[in-house]
Amino acid sequence: MKTIIEPFRIKVVEPLRMTTPEERERLLREAAFNVFNLRSRDVLIDLLTDSGTGAMSSLQWAGIMQGDESYAGAESFYRFRDRMQELTGFTHILPTHQGRASERILFELVGGQGKVIPNNNHFDTTRANIEHSGAEAVDLVVDQARDPRARHPFKGNMDVGKLEDLICRVGRERIPLCMVTVTNNAGGGQPVSLENLKAVRAVCDRHGIPLFLDACRFAENAYFIKRREPGQLHRSVREIVRDMFALADGATISAKKDGLVNIGGVLLLKDQELAQRADALLILTEGFVTYGGLAGRDLEAMAQGFEEVVHEDYLAYRIRSVEYLGEKLLALGYEIVEPPGGHAIYVNAGALCPHIPAPQFPGQALVCALYRGGGIRACEIGSVFAGSREPAGMELVRLAIPRRVYTQSHIDYVVEVCAELFERRRSFRGLRMVNAPPVLRHFTARFEEVLS
Ligand SMILES: *Cc1c(COP(=O)(O)O)cnc(C)c1O
Repeated sequence: MKTIIEPFRIKVVEPLRMTTPEERERLLREAAFNVFNLRSRDVLIDLLTDSGTGAMSSLQWAGIMQGDESYAGAESFYRFRDRMQELTGFTHILPTHQGRASERILFELVGGQGKVIPNNNHFDTTRANIEHSGAEAVDLVVDQARDPRARHPFKGNMDVGKLEDLICRVGRERIPLCMVTVTNNAGGGQPVSLENLKAVRAVCDRHGIPLFLDACRFAENAYFIKRREPGQLHRSVREIVRDMFALADGATISAKKDGLVNIGGVLLLKDQELAQRADALLILTEGFVTYGGLAGRDLEAMAQGFEEVVHEDYLAYRIRSVEYLGEKLLALGYEIVEPPGGHAIYVNAGALCPHIPAPQFPGQALVCALYRGGGIRACEIGSVFAGSREPAGMELVRLAIPRRVYTQSHIDYVVEVCAELFERRRSFRGLRMVNAPPVLRHFTARFEEVLS
């Protein structure tokens, strides 16, 4: 088989700045060993997140110039709405400034004290918005998801037995809706099968509970369904996307992922009465229903991004490029969450650094080593990220791949740095948190190195 190449050529370039190991040592210390405190100009390969960090196409940039900035009834809105309608089948389509704004509106309407919202795994902003409304967020992912090395094809699936048990235990009246996140970001970017969505839908129907998708990575999920689910290979990603949305009564979307834009979100609703109340809240805090906290040009870029993301050459390249990094790291001896997910590789830093106990943050130690070793910025998803809420189950480091930004040689460079680090892994030092804010501490915590 030939190399799956980047299905684009480069028209505009953004220079990267090289740094020396001595510079990086100084910058890391000035940042108190927290890479969120680094300036992006001091980072060579930025794998902190895939959210809003993608590159837009020439047609998206052309759309930017066509943005209709009218307050009401802008042409850009209708282009965006028609695109989303064609893609998803939904007719009530609200633009928002990003995914969490859609979540905030939805849970202000259906959340509140005593309510319980199930999901495969709630993403952190979804959980935070649910809890902010007074409701409880419950994770019901299949057990295979807890074993990083279990090569289940759909590790993002919801356990329908656990869903039945939850409904039975708390009562149908306390569950205003059931969510499923595609792909399951908090669970390693793992996909959910069509069969599982249908099974969840059947349980919801039996109890009269609406089903919502957290559909940030709907196209990556649909591509996994095409490749991995029996009987789906001959179908187009567009058809599979339509099937996924047809099973849902609504969806929240961050367009910063599969919308291929730097800012934007969507809220999709079927129920007309709920939609009217959402319109009112949108106007109250985001903006009028035909722009929702965005400029007309942003809606143009979204309309085009939601078109390009279902192109199968793009998705083949996207999923392959993440898998490529995963295969190389496995070959070097790293333990990762398997199989590779759609948008990131999660390295098991606990297994890499058994000499660093969890309270000394082995994940953060690897994050520091990646920056020192090669100017690579990654994100700790372990005990720092989990905060004081509960101990983390695993000490992971996420290497998230921005869309259409880095080429294979950039990734090969990351692999070379990782190869060097693997040989030196026993020299990594643990960290002590010297300043810990009460919530979302990973963004602003300060550390010192533990000297042995
Ligand atoms: C990014 C993300 C969100 C929140 O979207 P923002 O645009 O960052 O507000 C919600 N759910 C999932 C699964 C996400 O990945």
